Parts: sequence; C-alpha cells; structure tokens
Amino acid sequence: MTENKFIRFEKMEWSGGHVTELWAVVSRSSKAHLALILWYGLWRQYVLSTFEDVVFNTGCLKSITEFIEELNRLHKTKTTKRVYCEVCGAECTNNIVKSDSGRVLCNVCGVQEL
Ligand SMILES: [Zn+2]
Repeated sequence: MTENKFIRFEKMEWSGGHVTELWAVVSRSSKAHLALILWYGLWRQYVLSTFEDVVFNTGCLKSITEFIEELNRLHKTKTTKRVYCEVCGAECTNNIVKSDSGRVLCNVCGVQEL
C-alpha cells in the first residue's frame, strides 16, 4: 500500500493470542528487519519501534507514517461501536440518550419525542 523501492511491510505473527497486528519494516536490498510497527496500548495507537543504528530517509519515513496512519484508521473503524436508534433503527451519529428512560434515539426521533 505505501511501500517504496527501499522498504516493504511484512505482517508478522505474534506468538500469543494478540488481537492487534505486528508488522516488520523490511529492507528490500538486504532483507533485514529494520523496525517493527506494533500496537502501543498506553497511547492507543500503532507506533514504530526501531532497532539500534537503523537510519531512514524522509521518503521511507513518509511511507512508514502513511502505513501507520492507515493501520490506526482501520483499527478505529474496526473498534468503533455502532449505535442504532431504538425507534427508527437508523444509525445514530449524533445519538441522543434520553436521561429519563435511558433510551438511545437519533436526533430526529429524539426531538420528536421531546
Ligand atoms: Zn430514529
């Protein structure tokens, strides 16, 4: 997806039962693993973890940045909980949770009920 002529991204397998993904940044010329892209729980996002003495030029950094942004975007769409209106069934983007009954209503049904 955002690979360039110097590096490519290779999906790795975690040894445990990890939910998040692990990717290696691999040099096309030497086949060496230059860095890892992994989920950093504390920051709730994918980050780059490099090995010692690894250098990247701005082109590679750009590719890596784009790749990580894509991973973060995909993770967000996978984990975003969808909420549906209890009256019309429409997906509520600006959902209203009624305080008295606790029902989730979309802004159309919520306004009608008030
Ligand atoms: Zn509704």
